[in-house]
Amino acid sequence: MNITSLKKKINSNQKIILFGAGRLGKLALKALQANGLNVYAFYDSSEYKQGEEVCGVKILNLNELSALEKTSIIFITNNYISYVQNFLKKLGFKSIYDCINIFEEIKKIKINQDLNEYDINSIDREISFHKSAIDKSKIENDDSLHLKCIDIVVTEKCSMKCKDCSNLMQYYERPQNSDLDLMFKTLDKFMGCLDSLYEFRVLGGDPFMNKELHKTIEKLKSYKNAQNIVVYTNATIIPKNENFECLKNDKITIEITNYGKGLSRKHSELVELLSSNNIKYRSRPPGDWNACGTLKFYERTEEELQRVFDNCCMSDVTTMMNGVLFRCPFAANATNLKAVPYVEDEVINLNHNITDKDSLKKSIKNFNKSKKPLTACSYCGGRDYNSEIIKPAIQTKKPLGYIKIEK
Ligand code: SF4
Ligand code: SF4
Repeated sequence: MNITSLKKKINSNQKIILFGAGRLGKLALKALQANGLNVYAFYDSSEYKQGEEVCGVKILNLNELSALEKTSIIFITNNYISYVQNFLKKLGFKSIYDCINIFEEIKKIKINQDLNEYDINSIDREISFHKSAIDKSKIENDDSLHLKCIDIVVTEKCSMKCKDCSNLMQYYERPQNSDLDLMFKTLDKFMGCLDSLYEFRVLGGDPFMNKELHKTIEKLKSYKNAQNIVVYTNATIIPKNENFECLKNDKITIEITNYGKGLSRKHSELVELLSSNNIKYRSRPPGDWNACGTLKFYERTEEELQRVFDNCCMSDVTTMMNGVLFRCPFAANATNLKAVPYVEDEVINLNHNITDKDSLKKSIKNFNKSKKPLTACSYCGGRDYNSEIIKPAIQTKKPLGYIKIEK
C-alpha cells in the first residue's frame, strides 16, 4: 500500500494504526503525517509503553486494539511480519500492510530533521532491514543468493559480563579469539557464492578485545559483494593503532551500545574520537532485552518449539563461528560452549572440502529456508515479540555455570 493508494482508499471513518511503537513506528508516523494522513494510535506489546505517547500519538493496549473497528488500516511497523499478520488476522483485522511503500516517502522528505536519534544512515538501515524481512519469501524462490547480514564472531572475550547476554558471553570460562586462518579460508568459500550481502556484523564479546581485529576488518573490506561492515561495541575500549586506523572506511559503521556511565566508561571519549575522524557511528541505549540468555532445557511440545522458532527474530541471523554457519548467534555460541549438541544437518560446515560453488549456494539457500526448529531452540528462552522484557546488562562477577553435554 503506497500513500497515493491509501489516500484514495481510506474513508473518513477508518482509523490508521501503527503496530509497533519503536523506531520504524516513528518513521512511518512522520511519513504519513508529512502526507496529510492522520494516525489514530500505535499498538505495542511492551506493557510499559502502553498508555504512553509517541510524538503525541497514544500507544494502545491489547484490549483497546481488539475493540477497534475491524476495518481499521494497520501498518506493521516492526520486523515480525508473519507473526503480526497472523496475530491481527486472528483478531479479525483485514487491512494489514507492511510499510515498505510508506518508507519510500521518507526519501522524499527531510524526515531525519524531526528524529534526533536518527542520522540518515540509520534510517536507510532500518528500512533495508524491514525490506529484507518482507523480501525473505521472494528471495527464497529465485536463483540468486542475497543475504541481509551475517554475524562474524571475532572473539569470545568481552569487557563486560552481562548475566543475560543473548550471545552467552557470561558462560565462557576461558574465552578465546577466533582463529584467523580458519575464518578467512571459510569466509572466502562463503562469500564466493553470494550475489550480495547487505551487512557484515562484527561481534564478540567486544570485538576490540581482539588486538588483531584489524586483520578481520581488512579482510571484510576486500569483499566487493558486501555493502556494509558494522562493528558492535560496548564503549569500554578505545581502539588504538591498527585497530583504529582500519575503521576509517566508508563501508564501516561503529554501533555503540551505551550502557551508561558506570558500564560504558569510554563512551564520550569514543564518540569524540570517531566524530573527529569522520568515522560513522551510531550510539544507542540497550533498549528492550528479552529473557533469552539463560542456558537451560525447556520442556516444550513440538508445537511450542515450532512456535518459538517461527516467531523468533534471530532465526535468520546467520552466524559464522569457527568456520561453521549457524542459523542464529544463540545456536552458534551454545554449540561452541558444548551446551547443545552439534547437529550436522542444522549447520553448514565450511571446513569440509566443498569446492563446488553451485552446490554450496544451494545448500546455503536450503539452510536459510528451513523452517525446522533447531536443537538449540530447546535450550533458548526464545526471541519473539512477546518474550519477557528484562533489565539489561546486569553484571556477574564470575562466569555462570551450565550443564555440558557429554560429547
Ligand atoms: S551483552 Fe554484555 S556481555 Fe554480551 S557482548 Fe554485549 S556487553 Fe558483552
Ligand atoms: S535458538 Fe531458536 S529460539 Fe533461540 S535465538 Fe536461535 S532460532 Fe531463535
